[in-house]
Amino acid sequence: MKIPMLDLNAQYEPMKDKVLQAIKDVFDSKRFINGPQIRELEEKLADYCHCKHAIGVTSGTDALLISLMAFDIGEGDEVITTPFTFFATAGSIFRVGAKPIFVDIDPITYNIDPDLLEEKITDKTKAIMPVHIFGQCAEMDKINEIAKRHGLSVIEDAAQAIGSEYKGRRAGSLGDVGCFSFFPSKNLGCCGDGGLVTTNNDEIAEKIRILRQHGSKPKYYHKIIGGNFRLDTMQAAVLLEKFPYLEEWHKGRQNNAEYYNEHLKDVVVTPFVESHNTMIYNQYTIRTPMRDELQNKLNEANIGNAIYYPVPLHLQECFAYLGYKEGDLPESEKASQEVVSIPIYPELTDEQMDYVIQVIKNI
Ligand SMILES: *Cc1c(COP(=O)(O)O)cnc(C)c1O
Repeated sequence: MKIPMLDLNAQYEPMKDKVLQAIKDVFDSKRFINGPQIRELEEKLADYCHCKHAIGVTSGTDALLISLMAFDIGEGDEVITTPFTFFATAGSIFRVGAKPIFVDIDPITYNIDPDLLEEKITDKTKAIMPVHIFGQCAEMDKINEIAKRHGLSVIEDAAQAIGSEYKGRRAGSLGDVGCFSFFPSKNLGCCGDGGLVTTNNDEIAEKIRILRQHGSKPKYYHKIIGGNFRLDTMQAAVLLEKFPYLEEWHKGRQNNAEYYNEHLKDVVVTPFVESHNTMIYNQYTIRTPMRDELQNKLNEANIGNAIYYPVPLHLQECFAYLGYKEGDLPESEKASQEVVSIPIYPELTDEQMDYVIQVIKNI
């Protein structure tokens, strides 16, 4: 048996005709830029994310970047985030000219530890950027309370968490803005790159819409400097066809996670979900001190797997100038040595999961 990390073919097959028709419609209309599908998608996703506004952008990375720009964060500012995340989180902070400040994670959920956060706040701190890692929301009440007390903005990196809930509220509606990605491996993926920013703040929404088109309003008049951060009509059209399946896909991942949990909980550390959270399992990540051995066996057995993330961001070469050294953020460093993610996509069959479980148990 051969099990990929993700089987996009299985996802694509049942909706092929509709997706191809949607792409054809875009070609027929020739409205490749700013087509009506974009607004339609934005309205649906704003509603889905419990937000007043949703703004389609070029990617999850650019969703983070444009959000930082919207809050005028730049040179001389600091933004607090987690080192246990995809590179884009901290990369975007650097790209606006600000300094990423890393806070260690809670080793149980892998999310930023809110109890370690406040001591890192200085008079330069402008924002906190929590990441809902693997599809489980960070501890947002505590984070928001600290942010409020210090007058900071909260930018959610919700790239892995569309539809995730925290105390009944959806990811993207929990901070000042939420940033989503439609990278093909996310729970809602497009056929290329795409992203979204959500917010309940009218002023920030308007500013992001302007920044998305080079800061122009009206056209060719620029009070501020933005960039080209537009989502393609074609991507919006494809996402509109895929969106109706999203809840069903979440369910499939959740059922698979339950099945894995039941059979693996005595062998490895399985994901822990806080009782007030609903997780959408963008990744199913297990943990063991024998990780490297386990990964070798998975590879030998043709089972897709991935390490998210092998090097915590504070130890990345490009961030050496920040002065972190090994041992500074021990929980993130330890997690990087011990985690491995295994296939969790909704179309997995019981036979496939049984095979994965057997291979892991054999070690
Ligand atoms: C995927 C991801 C991003 C970046 O999204 P892109 O659409 O690939 O630019 C940012 N942050 C996290 C946590 C992600 O998982």
